[in-house]
Amino acid sequence: MTSKLIRGTALDGQIRFFVTNTTNMVEDAKTIHQTSPVATAALGRLLTATSILGVMLKGENNKVTARIHGNGPIGTMIATSNATGNVKGYVGNPLVLVDSPTKGKLNVGGAVGTDGEITIIKDLGMKNSYISNYPLVSGEIGEDFAAYFMHSEQTPSAVGLGVIMDVDYTIKSAGGFIIQLMPETDENVAFIIEERIKEIGSVSELFAKSKNEKEVLEELLGPFAPEIMKEYEIAYHCDCHRERFEKALISLGKDELSKILDEDGHAELQCHFCNKTYQFNQENLKSLIRESK
Ligand SMILES: [Zn+2]
Repeated sequence: MTSKLIRGTALDGQIRFFVTNTTNMVEDAKTIHQTSPVATAALGRLLTATSILGVMLKGENNKVTARIHGNGPIGTMIATSNATGNVKGYVGNPLVLVDSPTKGKLNVGGAVGTDGEITIIKDLGMKNSYISNYPLVSGEIGEDFAAYFMHSEQTPSAVGLGVIMDVDYTIKSAGGFIIQLMPETDENVAFIIEERIKEIGSVSELFAKSKNEKEVLEELLGPFAPEIMKEYEIAYHCDCHRERFEKALISLGKDELSKILDEDGHAELQCHFCNKTYQFNQENLKSLIRESK
C-alpha cells in the first residue's frame, strides 16, 4: 500500500518542506521483518527520513542510502531510497527489546545507541558515490538526521519523525517532516518554526488524529504561506532480482564456488530487504563457475 509525501516551499522560497504520512509503508516493513515494537519504531523513522532524502535527489536514477550504527542492541540499520521515494531497509536485530524510562514511550535511542555515526551514501550515477557521516546525537534518529544536515550539508533543518503503535501492535500512525531554511533566512523565522513544532508535539500524533499531510503542513508552516510543488505516492519496495545474486556468487570466484558445489551441492541466498530467497541448484552453480574467471 502506498503512502503520500508532499514537498514545496514557503516564505517566497526561503523555506523548503517535506511532509509524509508513512503509516502504510511502516506497516509493510513491520510485516516483512516481523520487528519488535521498538525495532518497528526505529526502522519506521529511518525509512521515513530516507524516503524524504530520496525525493531530494535530482537525477531519476539516483539513489541514497542511510546507515545508522550506534552500537546499541538493534545493531546496524540500513535504508535505501530511489528518487521517487520508494524505500527499503532492515535492522540487524529485528527482535530487540529494551526497557523504556518513560512509560508508554518506546525507547528508540536506547535500542539504537549513541556510540557511532549516521552515514549517508549518495549514488548519483557517477563513478564514485558521495559518502558523508556525522556522530550520532541521541540515537532517536530525527535529531541525528538534523545534525547530519547541519554539519554535513550546512543546511539548518528541523526533522520530525514518529511511529505510534496500536494496542494490537499494528501501526496506528507513522510519518515525518523535514523543514529546511535557506542560508539568508531571518533568525526569527527559525524561532517561530521551532515554537510551532514544540506546540504540535509529535507528527505521528497529528496523523493519529486523522489529520492529512496538508493539515499537518498548515500546523507547521501556516503563517509562511506554504505552497505544495509536488506530491508523491511512496511505498516500501524491494527491487531485488536473481541476476544481482548471481553476480554476488560469481564474485566469490571459481574456487569458492567449486567448494560450495562440492560440499553443499546448492546455494540459497536471502535478500536482507524483503527476505525473498533465491535457490541455486547444481546446474546453476556449474554455469556460474563457467562464467567466473
Ligand atoms: Zn529483496
